[in-house]
Amino acid sequence: MSNSTIPFLTLENVTKRFGLFKAINGVSEVFAPGELICVIGPNGAGKSTLLNMICGTLPVSEGRVLFGDEVINGLPPEKIANLGIARKFQVPSVFESLTVAENLTLAGGRGLNRDELDALIEKIHLTAERDIRGADLPHGGKQWLEMGMALAMKPKVLLLDEPTAGLSVDETSDTARFLKQLRGEATVIVIEHDMAFVRELNARTIVLHHGALIASGSFEDIESNEAVRDVYLGRH
Ligand code: ADP
Ligand code: MG
Repeated sequence: MSNSTIPFLTLENVTKRFGLFKAINGVSEVFAPGELICVIGPNGAGKSTLLNMICGTLPVSEGRVLFGDEVINGLPPEKIANLGIARKFQVPSVFESLTVAENLTLAGGRGLNRDELDALIEKIHLTAERDIRGADLPHGGKQWLEMGMALAMKPKVLLLDEPTAGLSVDETSDTARFLKQLRGEATVIVIEHDMAFVRELNARTIVLHHGALIASGSFEDIESNEAVRDVYLGRH
């Protein structure tokens, strides 16, 4: 897939209210086709809420989400998924009774041919586990399988909420390398709190705090940003 087929993803003044509380407060941002972006911020900053609004599982209270020229907020999640915006959840949700190959085939539907299936299985390092049932995979294997299931849909945008949760140091490093290889192939937005992982991703990093976007830049910029340091060191 070439990135010329991927539309820009744009947030315009996006706000999410839960009652009187604003979990996301007027966030505007543009994600370029094929860009890899990392979203960081303390617990409760609104990171998951933001992803949930992009994929439509939470309604937007104010503002707009655009995919290319199309306003996508307000569309049902299935419609948004059909536009090519895929989401991997924090807890892996694979079909336990199906094998690795069957899980991927199901996720890919008719769009995934045999050669692509083989290539995908290799890409997620599960060649030896091809005929193992989901239930019998270790946690790391399940995480990889779910990543593969998201990729089987050939997404234009891939949203990942803490993909390294529960992974070993080596698996975490593998994941960073893997996501970097997706650059140009899909726009990837990854929420993460493991700073070693964020450093390794070496991607544009945006920082959320109390529902507001307080910084955006390279990891080095972010690391040396005073406002960000205040947030993480609890000096606010
Ligand atoms: P993060 O992913 O950055 O840790 P979340 O997006 O999960 O943060 O949550 C942001 C804030 O919104 C938190 O204060 C959380 O308690 C609140 N929140 C999230 N979902 C809901 C909900 N469904 N109803 C009410 N409050 C919510
Ligand atoms: Mg979260």
